[in-house]
Amino acid sequence: MFEFLTQELEFLKSIGLYRELKTIEKIDGSKIIIAGRKLINFCSNDYLGLSQHPKVKERTIEIIKEFGVGAGASRLISGNTIIHEELERKIAKFKKREAAIVFPTGYQANLGVISCLVEEKDTVIIDRLNHASIIDACRLSKAQMQVYPHQDLMRLENILQRSEKFRRRLIITDSVFSMDGDLAPLPEIIKLAKKYQALVMIDEAHATGVIGKTGRGLEEFFNIEGQADIVMGTFSKALGSIGGFVCGSLELITYLRNKARSFIYTTALPAAICAAALAALEIIENEPELINQLWKNINKVNPSAQSAIIPIIIGELNKTMEISTKFFENGIFLSGIRPPTVPKNQCRLRLTITAAHTENDLEHLRSLIRKLIKDFDLGSCN
Ligand SMILES: *Cc1c(COP(=O)(O)O)cnc(C)c1O
Repeated sequence: MFEFLTQELEFLKSIGLYRELKTIEKIDGSKIIIAGRKLINFCSNDYLGLSQHPKVKERTIEIIKEFGVGAGASRLISGNTIIHEELERKIAKFKKREAAIVFPTGYQANLGVISCLVEEKDTVIIDRLNHASIIDACRLSKAQMQVYPHQDLMRLENILQRSEKFRRRLIITDSVFSMDGDLAPLPEIIKLAKKYQALVMIDEAHATGVIGKTGRGLEEFFNIEGQADIVMGTFSKALGSIGGFVCGSLELITYLRNKARSFIYTTALPAAICAAALAALEIIENEPELINQLWKNINKVNPSAQSAIIPIIIGELNKTMEISTKFFENGIFLSGIRPPTVPKNQCRLRLTITAAHTENDLEHLRSLIRKLIKDFDLGSCN
C-alpha cells in the first residue's frame, strides 16, 4: 500500500533533498545545544531576541495563570478575549491602520486574506520570490496567478497593462524577501498599482521590528506610511512568539472576520501568546536601542545588507551542505537552504543576524567565513 512513500523518500535521498530535523536541547541567548554540541545560532528569525526577553516571558506566564494555556475555541465561538482585542488595536496602531485581525500563524493570515479578496474572475500578480504561503494562498483562491521576475517593475507593468479583463487585480510582494534579504521597490509598485487600479498587499514577516527607524516596516523605510491597501505580518519573527496579522481599513477587517476560513475554522491563539506579542511591541516602542543594536550587528557582518537576512549563495547542492557541516563543526549553526525553497543551483546558507549576537559571536562568524572562503574557493560569492 505505502510503497510509494518508501520510493519517494529513497528518491529524495538520492537527489540530496531528504530533510531531517535538527534537535535543540537547550537555548541560552544566541547559543544553542544540538547533539551535545554548543553552537551559535545564525539561522534564527528571532531578530531582536524577544523570544527570550524577561518582560515577554513574564507577561506570558502572568496571562497563562489568568486565562490558562489554550484558548479552548475559535475566536467567533468562545476563544476571544480582551487580550486578543488589545493586541489587534495595538498592531493596527503600530502599522498606522484603522483595524487589524490576528490569525494563529502568518501562514494562515496569508491563506485567509488572499483567498477572501480574489476569486476566479480576478488576478493576483506576484514576485517570483514571494513566500510559499503566498503562493499556496493564491492557488487556494483560484484567481489567475501572474508571476513577474524578481523585482522586475517593467514586467509588472506589462502584466498590469494586459490585465484589464480581470474584475480585480491584486499585487502582492514580500517587503523583505525571505531567502534573499532584499527590499521590494514599494514606492514604484504603489505608483503602478494606482495607474492600473490594482490593490497592493505587502507581507512584512521579515520587516516588522527590523525595517524603518522604529521597526514599523517598509512603508516607514520609504516614508510612505499608509499607502499599501493591505499589510500582513507575523508575530513569529522579530516579535518573538507566534501568530499572524492583517492590518487595513475597518471594513476589510470586518469582512475578513466574516469570511476568512483560516480565521473562522481554527482555534484562537492562546491569550498568553497575544500578551507576549503585546509585550514585544511595547519593548520595541520603549527600547529603540534594541533595533539599533540589531543594525549595528548587521553592519558588522555586511555593511551593505538591507535586512537581517544575509544569503551566502553557494549554488551547488552538495557543496552547500558540506559548507553548512563545516560551520557546524566549528560551532556555528547555519542551515543550508535547498530547492524547492530556493531555485535550483541557487542553494545557499541563509545567514540571519540578531540583536542577541555578541561581539565574540560576530567575530567568530567573520573569521570562519574568511577561512571557508579560502578553503572552498568561494571568492565569487557575495
Ligand atoms: C515566515 C513567513 C510567513 C509565515 O509566517 P508564520 O507566522 O511563520 O506562519 C509568511 N510570509 C513570509 C514572507 C514569511 O517569511
